[in-house]
Amino acid sequence: MLRDGACESIWQTSVTEFVSRAAFIPVGIQDVVIVGGGITGITTALLLQQAGKRCVVVEAHNIGFGTTGGTTAHLNTFMDSSYAQIKQNFSAEDAQLIARGARQSIDLIKSNIERYNIACKFRELPGYLFSTTEEESSALESIIAASKEAGVAVGLVNETVLPIPYHQISIWEGQAQFHPLQYLHGIAKAFEAAGGVLLQGCRVLHAEDNETIEVITTKGNIKCRQLIYATHIPPGVNLLHFRCAPYRSYVLGVKLKGDGYPDAVAYDMHDPYHYYRTEEVNGEKYLIVGGEDHKTGHEDNTEACFRRLESHVRNYFEVASIPYKWSSQYFEPTDGLPYIGHLPGHPGNIYVATGFGGNGMIYGTLSGMLLRDLIVSGASELEELLDPNRIKPVAGFANFVKEAADVAGKWVGGLFPQEKLPALADMAPGEGRIVEFEGKKMGIYKDERGKVYAIDPGCTHIKCTVQWNNAEKSWDCPCHGSRFSFTGEVLTGPARKSLAVYDVKQGKVVI
Ligand SMILES: Cc1cc2nc3c(=O)[nH]c(=O)nc-3n(C[C@H](O)[C@H](O)[C@H](O)COP(=O)(O)OP(=O)(O)OC[C@H]3O[C@@H](n4cnc5c(N)ncnc54)[C@H](O)[C@@H]3O)c2cc1C
Repeated sequence: MLRDGACESIWQTSVTEFVSRAAFIPVGIQDVVIVGGGITGITTALLLQQAGKRCVVVEAHNIGFGTTGGTTAHLNTFMDSSYAQIKQNFSAEDAQLIARGARQSIDLIKSNIERYNIACKFRELPGYLFSTTEEESSALESIIAASKEAGVAVGLVNETVLPIPYHQISIWEGQAQFHPLQYLHGIAKAFEAAGGVLLQGCRVLHAEDNETIEVITTKGNIKCRQLIYATHIPPGVNLLHFRCAPYRSYVLGVKLKGDGYPDAVAYDMHDPYHYYRTEEVNGEKYLIVGGEDHKTGHEDNTEACFRRLESHVRNYFEVASIPYKWSSQYFEPTDGLPYIGHLPGHPGNIYVATGFGGNGMIYGTLSGMLLRDLIVSGASELEELLDPNRIKPVAGFANFVKEAADVAGKWVGGLFPQEKLPALADMAPGEGRIVEFEGKKMGIYKDERGKVYAIDPGCTHIKCTVQWNNAEKSWDCPCHGSRFSFTGEVLTGPARKSLAVYDVKQGKVVI
């Protein structure tokens, strides 16, 4: 099964590609087209189909190709933006709404698993959040107080969950974990069984927003009444690209000497934080540890992030081997809450769900419920709070300015060092870099067999310069997170078009 990176996640290797029922571009006007076959798209499609809507999911690759195939699938009622932050940025009532929505999301996942008999290793477990310094402990205390106020069951305990010394440790009841692709495949099957159409290997290129919407895809056009972008970040140029910042996070699947695998989900409070859980694949246990997050395109050597994560793990655990390593991308919202609802600039019938941070299993599921309610009954209790058109100058202002300034710096300033094109023979196999050649910037990648690929590094979204990601063998845009394969094809939006490619023949670049 394919994913949007070169490293294989533990999930990819333990499922086969989902085979859709024979599906063709449907004729006539459909009720809803959902773009994107990750947890957000498939959950939303299933709920709408169950509610009597005629739905079509359009997925550019295979379902699970995006971050849903590269996640770690903790299911939490507490969020990366803590309830203390939500209370501060929004209100105590809003923190309660999010807590309730998170609980409903876990309940929906659980009921789908029961109803459709999905074997996806769903387990309810306690969650542990621990501090390692006094400063972190005081933050932990305020998180606990705000979480209790929001209605979440949490308290301090004195337990040992991981072999990592802690200052204070809190327990969160009713957390869970599952195999994200087994779950995704299960709900996709249920969607098809309910009459939904799932088109894989079909990219949406454009949508014309008239009385009925005309969706232009690589396999033909579809007419529909409502369109949902469940693409993790909407394609094209949109206000939301200035309100969401792309980040990359790294994960290791580790075999331990002995049986010290935690029977819990756990988190430290470092910035960026580490996250821990256990997964069993083919009767073998693995410790899954994540962390080392950074803004996309802001790390020269992404392999070094894996090395730092490994060194963190080896500091505390008796490591036997590390069979899995992968990384993936998420989008951080500027005010801490996701954007789910009407796509800015399209108040009518086009919807979006984005800005989930590290909580997209929950927010992707919540998006399904919120969008179903908006489309079916015209209202949701979360509509106003998560409105993508909201303006939260107080809550989001500092972040917004920081992210926007960063974008402008990358876009206008072109912060990349001026280099001469080295003799192509000097590049190591597997290496990629931006070089200057006869006054033009270009991105060069040499594959393991010595074949050279050259692209124009101007991102086709809004022309920031892409950066080489040596771990996932992709060109990543530091501004809005568009990602391209070494041959220049779009892996991740918002870009819609491939990078321009230079022709490389026998070591000579022809421009
Ligand atoms: C390393 C890591 C660990 C994480 N761990 C957790 C966790 O433990 N718990 C948690 O809750 N969240 C976690 N997250 C976040 C969560 O995984 C994501 O938010 C979530 O998977 C996003 O799902 P999605 O369906 O919105 O997007 P995606 O899974 O990215 O799906 C979008 C799909 O849209 C398709 N697409 C894009 N453009 C087009 C187009 N034009 N036409 C057709 N199809 C298109 C893509 O191919 C893709 O399959 C983690 C994230 C990372 C990076």
